[in-house]
Amino acid sequence: MIPCAVVASRGARRWEQGHPWIFRSDVEAPPAAPAGAVRVRDTRGRELGWALWSPASEISLRRLDANPDTAIDGEWWYRRLTAAVARRAATARDATAYRLVHGEGDALPALVVDQYDRWLVAQLLSAGVEAFRAEITDALRTITGCQGILARNDPPVRTREGLPRVVEALYGEVPHDIVVEEHGIRYHAAPHTGQKTGAFLDQRENRVLAAAHAHGRALDLFSYHGSFALHLARRATSVTAVDSSAAAIERAAVNAELNALSNIEFVEADAFDFLRERRGGPRFDTIVVDPPAFAKNRASLQGAIRGYRDLNVHAMRLLAPGGMIFTASCSYHLGKAAFLDMLRDAAAASGRTLVLRAITAQPADHPEVITAPETGYLKGALLEAID
Ligand code: SAH
Repeated sequence: MIPCAVVASRGARRWEQGHPWIFRSDVEAPPAAPAGAVRVRDTRGRELGWALWSPASEISLRRLDANPDTAIDGEWWYRRLTAAVARRAATARDATAYRLVHGEGDALPALVVDQYDRWLVAQLLSAGVEAFRAEITDALRTITGCQGILARNDPPVRTREGLPRVVEALYGEVPHDIVVEEHGIRYHAAPHTGQKTGAFLDQRENRVLAAAHAHGRALDLFSYHGSFALHLARRATSVTAVDSSAAAIERAAVNAELNALSNIEFVEADAFDFLRERRGGPRFDTIVVDPPAFAKNRASLQGAIRGYRDLNVHAMRLLAPGGMIFTASCSYHLGKAAFLDMLRDAAAASGRTLVLRAITAQPADHPEVITAPETGYLKGALLEAID
């Protein structure tokens, strides 16, 4: 017997409006089954398709397929994963590290897969997707011919799914250090221990954009392993890379050496302190501001906005006339409109005239479903100081 979930009309409507999730409060009758794939019906018995079922989660059902007559088997995962990989063909021409699967953005809910050269790093972020670990591993091996798959199953969301937080091999062995290439820049990725799955792959296109406008004295705030700094260094005269983590700065210096770039100065400092200390000093022609998520939840949003605003005001004041600033926020809770409002306030407070040269969202390999705002988090803006 195929397990079935019955959902209230509010849940059914959500699906019809293009959102792939149904919350626990909209499940009328949960499936009598462990986590896995289930059929979904509304209270009138209408078939809505297939979903991944997570018994312990607030997000009970995640849509897999609108066709109730399909089978969610190894073949199904193979087809969906093949399509996701095929969508990355253009990205793969310029980089050896990029996201292969972006969960709901690839109609593969709660599944993240990043490629680092010949190895993959996966995250199975719900109990439902965890039930298909074997099918997913097999399909990824066949499609990519990779040499190893590591599960970085350590994010806190796993706890809310009733799943353990572990880092373990799904197949083969994945090295602790992998050198990857991104638009001609090489860097070391750390799949076992680095942030996210080993690097910030989501800023790849923005690094290319920032580098295209880079000139003169450049500053990379919140540099981590120096990824923006490395790209800027090819165009700018000199680059100052700032991060509060000594380990991150050390790695950034190694990456500079790997690319034979000798015009980057590395500074271990708090970015806010750095900007305060440089106030009134020599200005920068190019600035990148890529802070961590200040708003971890809705409650901390107001404080976070003040933080972003402060940071941007001080950075804008340090821009030379004609200077370019690329500024980003990866806080999901700060929406696109609020991000631009914050920048408007910051620009006004900086006393400078800034023109908007580009607004950026997520890169092609991190697709955002327009009807599911939760799949989008990264926003960026390129601004030029004209006075
Ligand atoms: N720009 C990077 C990603 C930045 S991630 C890239 O493109 O890959 C955020 C970084 O900010 C982390 O490396 C963290 O160590 C650093 N950080 C956090 N708070 C900081 C602070 N107050 N001052 C400086 N760096 C900080």
